[in-house]
Amino acid sequence: MTRFRPLHSQAYAPATRPRGYVAALLMGAGAVLAAGVFVVDTFTPLQSAVAVLYVVVVLLVAASGSRRAIVGATVGCMGLTAVAYARGHGAPAMDASFLRCAVSLGAIAITGVLALRNRERMITIAGQARLIELTHDSIFVRDMDDVIVLWNGGAEQLYGWTAQEALGRRASDLLGTAFPGDHAEAEAELFGAGRWEGEVFQRRRDDRIVIVEARCALLRDEYGKPRVILEAGTDVTGRRAAAAALTESERRYRSMFENARFCFWEQDYSLVMDRVHALREEGVTDFAAYIDAHPEFVSEAMRLTQIVDVNQATVRMLGASRREELLGPLARVLAPSQAVFARVLATIEGGGVAEGETTLTNLRGERLTVLFALNMPLGPTRYDRVLVSVVDITDRKRAERALIAVQAELAQAARITALGEMSASIAHEVNQPLAAIVTHGEASLRWLRRAEPNLAEVSQGLERVVRDARRASEVVHRVRSLASKEPRQHVHFDLGMLVEECAQLLDGELAQHRISLCIDIDRGAPLPRGDRVQLQQVVVNLMANAIRAMSETADARHLRISARADPADGLLVEVEDSGTGIPEHIAPHLFDAFVTTRCDGMGMGLAICRSTIESHGGRLWATNRPGGGATFHFTLPIATLEPTPA
Ligand code: ADP
Repeated sequence: MTRFRPLHSQAYAPATRPRGYVAALLMGAGAVLAAGVFVVDTFTPLQSAVAVLYVVVVLLVAASGSRRAIVGATVGCMGLTAVAYARGHGAPAMDASFLRCAVSLGAIAITGVLALRNRERMITIAGQARLIELTHDSIFVRDMDDVIVLWNGGAEQLYGWTAQEALGRRASDLLGTAFPGDHAEAEAELFGAGRWEGEVFQRRRDDRIVIVEARCALLRDEYGKPRVILEAGTDVTGRRAAAAALTESERRYRSMFENARFCFWEQDYSLVMDRVHALREEGVTDFAAYIDAHPEFVSEAMRLTQIVDVNQATVRMLGASRREELLGPLARVLAPSQAVFARVLATIEGGGVAEGETTLTNLRGERLTVLFALNMPLGPTRYDRVLVSVVDITDRKRAERALIAVQAELAQAARITALGEMSASIAHEVNQPLAAIVTHGEASLRWLRRAEPNLAEVSQGLERVVRDARRASEVVHRVRSLASKEPRQHVHFDLGMLVEECAQLLDGELAQHRISLCIDIDRGAPLPRGDRVQLQQVVVNLMANAIRAMSETADARHLRISARADPADGLLVEVEDSGTGIPEHIAPHLFDAFVTTRCDGMGMGLAICRSTIESHGGRLWATNRPGGGATFHFTLPIATLEPTPA
């Protein structure tokens, strides 16, 4: 097999002419040879037979590379041949000498022409070699044994091997070319059509794999026999990586688009924006005003806006079975409200974000409330894939409405409860004097029914009945004034007297349960000021509770009511008993409404007491006594107090 001589790119060096002194040497040698041939041809018996040697003169001069020198040498040599013939033979005659001379002239002329042509070809080849050098693409040539015979600067840059290192090595060893497609198919195309183009993976000197866009051409000799393969390549690794990144980014976008739980739509606003731009060119500057004045533009824009893609969440939300059912003109698919779409158009006309709430009817005929946001690209750009995000807030809206309804019900319930609490409060407060009235009434009857009625006792009993009835009436009056928001009557009163009255109110019960009562009011304590009736109800409540707690114990029963000045709180009143103590489980909620341990209890007493004390600016709390029993403490602040007159 013919092996091509390895060609370095320098073989096609741009210089088609040798350096100056070499050219001069060649031309000098030519001149000497020409002179020698002329002398021999003219003055020796060899005559014209040596004239053929002028061919060598032309070739020597041709090697100098000068066109003018070639022409001159050719013409000169032919002239010398003719002169030598004329000197030796006189007028031309058709003899052997003349023929030799003619042959010599022909040989010199042909050599001259060929030398000129050869020079032209050399110039062309040198130009091509320059191009090969100048191109940024890699170009290398391998022979049919895969041996590299040409390696340009582009190849050096792309693969990292210098020409010296690459020339003479097998291309497959050096580059490890791998075809992503079918190698045999590529080979068949190259040998069949003489060309093959495609991407290959090749290894660089630093072992990095590069993606090369290769263009291969098979060059044949004049007999059609394959000689070399010329391979030009462009490094597309960066381009491919960018394309791969773009593809990956697109894939991620698609995946997010598809799998997001929120609804995404891609809408094509190109036609709408064309209309908008046309209007601007017609001189419309206030687009919002234009929309207001031309409602038909909104309907047209709705027809021109196309839904080009929707994600699965949208398919589900809109009750479709396939996404294709939802693609097409916005007006056909969703028919959003004219007003909302007009607002969207006015906002997006200059680019930017339009967002808001609207209602839609889905394919199942269900009415949905949705929040949407639409990002219109800014500036002159493509409007064919405008992303719209939509969130279905129907359930949230429903929940909001339900919440409002529940709140309304709750408010109603609270009013009813308040009413109930008030009734309970009235019942509770009136119950005490009524019970006392019954007790005193019964006692009076007993005194009357005796064989000898004790009228003094009867009259005392009836006085108590009257007093307690008045108290009940005062309570009712007070509660009524409370309900009608009448201002409270704050007056100064004597706490000792108030406690005495309470004790009288409960003396029947105290006696019944054999309870000893001790009232210990510090006479130096400040005189309280407040609503006497309400504060009396508090003391009665606390005493009644204490009596009940003590009635459940077999131990000695003592009730102590004390009051003294308190440096921090003004006046401190304590109701102390030797009863069961406050059950632990209700202690944290003792003062809440409806907390009771009694089967006939209502659990309202302490709640009312606390609210009364707090409304006077004081505090009420309870503690259990270490030896058994409970103490209820309440304070009345300085602001509501005035010092006892001396
Ligand atoms: P009621 O008397 O209707 O139960 P109260 O609000 O007056 O409602 O009392 C709530 C609960 O507090 C009572 O059921 C009782 O368990 C407890 N309690 C109140 N006072 C005392 C006390 N002095 N000793 C022990 N427990 C008490």
